[in-house]
Amino acid sequence: MATKTLPFTKAQIERIISRHPTPLHIYDAQAIVANARRLSRAFAWAPGFRNYFPVKALPNPHIVRLLADEGFGADCSSLPELVLADRVGLTGEQIMFSSNDTPAGEYVKAAQLGAVINLDDISHIDFVERHAGLGELLCFRYNPGPTRHGNTIIGEPAEAKFGITDAQVIDAYRTIRERGVTRFGMHTMVASNELNATYLIDTARMLFEQAVRLKDELGIRLEFVNLGGGWGIPYRPEDEPIDVEGVAEGIREAYQAEIVANGLDPLTIYIECGRLVTGPYGYLVSTVLHKKDTYKQFVGLDACMAHLMRPAIYGAYHHITVLGKEDAPCDHVVDVTGSLCENNDKFVIDRPLPAIEVGDILVIHDTGAHGHALGFNYNGKLRSAELLLSADGEVRLIRRAETIDDYFATLDFAALDAGS
Ligand SMILES: *Cc1c(COP(=O)(O)O)cnc(C)c1O
Repeated sequence: MATKTLPFTKAQIERIISRHPTPLHIYDAQAIVANARRLSRAFAWAPGFRNYFPVKALPNPHIVRLLADEGFGADCSSLPELVLADRVGLTGEQIMFSSNDTPAGEYVKAAQLGAVINLDDISHIDFVERHAGLGELLCFRYNPGPTRHGNTIIGEPAEAKFGITDAQVIDAYRTIRERGVTRFGMHTMVASNELNATYLIDTARMLFEQAVRLKDELGIRLEFVNLGGGWGIPYRPEDEPIDVEGVAEGIREAYQAEIVANGLDPLTIYIECGRLVTGPYGYLVSTVLHKKDTYKQFVGLDACMAHLMRPAIYGAYHHITVLGKEDAPCDHVVDVTGSLCENNDKFVIDRPLPAIEVGDILVIHDTGAHGHALGFNYNGKLRSAELLLSADGEVRLIRRAETIDDYFATLDFAALDAGS
């Protein structure tokens, strides 16, 4: 069971809203830091362990800085994400560049920053060599294909566009060694929101076996394996959170059995967890604008799927708390909607909630990863502000809300007015 609590009171939120109108995302800095430390502590046994926080999960420099201060790196997959990591002060191999279908300019930037470059395909060896030059360190993303199964969010590895196949591994590493690469890593990413500890441990074992294979077949000693992200969080109250220490212990046992036993110790373990780190500690705060009683009962918010897309695109569950009604009976079955001209703009469908009135404040839980980040401007919807809640209860505006001028910024009204 995951208890769904809030790090603020109703009175506190009302004060915050008086200065920063809803909708807004608010992140609990203290909980994020504590969670980051827990993860690092669980892997204290692993030499050089590092989580590369995937910038795409929560691309706000204040959050990435908070995590950098805890020793995390940044996992980037686009030019703006590389620039953000650089601006935060991360340098060199504190940045992992795990892209796919990559424009040349992005490899150039990654190489300039000295980031770890993680190639998605064997054909990118020539591409990077031509455009950015091959450095001393290179990594490949490994796709195990039909030997592993994915879940509904990430899909089957064999159907995925990502990574090199099992059959390409030897050729890939032999080729980069011939081209002068002297330091080697291997990456994979086969899970998304995975709560099954065994699956996560098996992923580590899979890469450890590849490390043994590369040593046996090519005499290549991997410097690191990057297990990717995708570790899940309990969105539903009845979900069991991951036992992080248990997973770390399972990975340690696999490390002993594969890496130590084959004389490959030390092998550095990296992961790229975003959702696990920040997901549970973000909240979308929204005000009820309307109630509607037609074929169904609807509660309309001032937030919409532009602020949190997961329910609409994945049918994902997000818990909702009606502030001040935490202990009221959930005896009203409603759809909670946004204002988009799209009928899938619903945060919940047929959920029993307390009696809700116009003006009530609803808090949507677990928006700390892939929440604000997935926002968009369809239908002229403007993305919300982001606030950082500190231990003393104060908030800092770490991203202002978009304005109509932001929305129009790329349009040339002047040319229209001039009649051209
Ligand atoms: C999205 C992504 C992640 C992070 O996924 P989480 O679910 O946030 O842990 C890590 N690595 C890669 C390559 C990704 O694409």
